[in-house]
Amino acid sequence: MRFALYPLKNRHSFAIDVFAKQLTEIRSLADLALINWSNNTYILGEGTNTIFTENFEGQLLLNRLTGIEIEETPEGWHVFAAAGENWHQLVVSLIELGIYGSENLALIPGSVGAAPVQNIGAYGVEVARFIDRVDVYDCKLHLETSLTHEECQFSYRDSLFKNPDHRQWLITGVHFFFPKAWLPVLDYPDLATLPADATAKEIMAHVIQVRQRKLPDPQIVPNAGSFFKNPVVSNEQCQELRRKFPLMPYYQQPDGRCKVAAGWLIDQAGLKSYTVGGAGVHSQQALVLVNREHASGQDILHLAEGIQAQVKARYGIQLEAEVRLLNGTGLLNP
Ligand SMILES: Cc1cc2nc3c(=O)[nH]c(=O)nc-3n(C[C@H](O)[C@H](O)[C@H](O)COP(=O)(O)OP(=O)(O)OC[C@H]3O[C@@H](n4cnc5c(N)ncnc54)[C@H](O)[C@@H]3O)c2cc1C
Repeated sequence: MRFALYPLKNRHSFAIDVFAKQLTEIRSLADLALINWSNNTYILGEGTNTIFTENFEGQLLLNRLTGIEIEETPEGWHVFAAAGENWHQLVVSLIELGIYGSENLALIPGSVGAAPVQNIGAYGVEVARFIDRVDVYDCKLHLETSLTHEECQFSYRDSLFKNPDHRQWLITGVHFFFPKAWLPVLDYPDLATLPADATAKEIMAHVIQVRQRKLPDPQIVPNAGSFFKNPVVSNEQCQELRRKFPLMPYYQQPDGRCKVAAGWLIDQAGLKSYTVGGAGVHSQQALVLVNREHASGQDILHLAEGIQAQVKARYGIQLEAEVRLLNGTGLLNP
């Protein structure tokens, strides 16, 4: 079969040169009613957390719903953003309007609709903190519904929306609440140089600067951000690892476990210049795998498997992909 109609190279930030057989743009709620859902349908936002490793034989639903509404109350602001809005543009607009809270999450690429899916986070803040409700459309049953914050089951880079049973739920919009009682979050080492009374605007500018310095711009070096999740291990395993590797950074979790920096594990395993075909580990940020030169889907899969095997052998930790990897018919990782 030839795939000629829908090139995906510019529709996912890892930019593998593959094609989709079927692609439907969702621009209005009326478009949703026409969806014919099947098991190999995939909902796509801006493709910054998705890697197509092969031509995609299923159906892609491209979310392009737009619109923002803001309502002020004595306590704060209720903000509704349609799922196809760009996340970073929303953050910039809110900070400009004096609505603070999301400044640590500036410059995270992608759409508003994908933000709750993996509960995007950076520099000590997760988006779930501001999410009141998430509006979804069940593309199989053709029903609209709205989930409360609790129903979304947010956790580290995870939510109910990642559950395979709910893959037919297309997020149409997100309701946020930003309280007027605002406090800066400056705990992360990268923000330690900021004064305690830094404004939200200053924090946003600093976050943008740090990200531009540390992370490769997907427009120049195609990538999908952090390829692996930071693993969360038991406190015993963490202490054991600290005995062997005293410099290993870790973050104590409220449940007593420890989050370990996957980038450090990869870096210290000597994998910073590891390359398979056109795919490789980024030289300044080992957690980011990049498409150096015309990488194929097999290149990135073999690179990831090689890293996982070496990290497992050295530290006894199984790294899990954070990015969504697709083959010809659907997701490779749950
Ligand atoms: C350079 C770079 C830096 C990054 N930094 C960070 C970071 O600091 N923190 C962080 O958390 N992430 C980061 N990411 C990952 C990425 O920005 C987020 O995961 C973002 O939310 C992806 O948005 P998207 O629209 O591109 O999602 P896509 O890649 O299009 O989709 C991601 C997932 O969400 C699902 N999805 C998308 N839209 C919808 C919808 N409307 N309804 C239901 N499901 C949907 C898809 O099916 C898929 O499972 C980074 C990525 C890059 C390239």
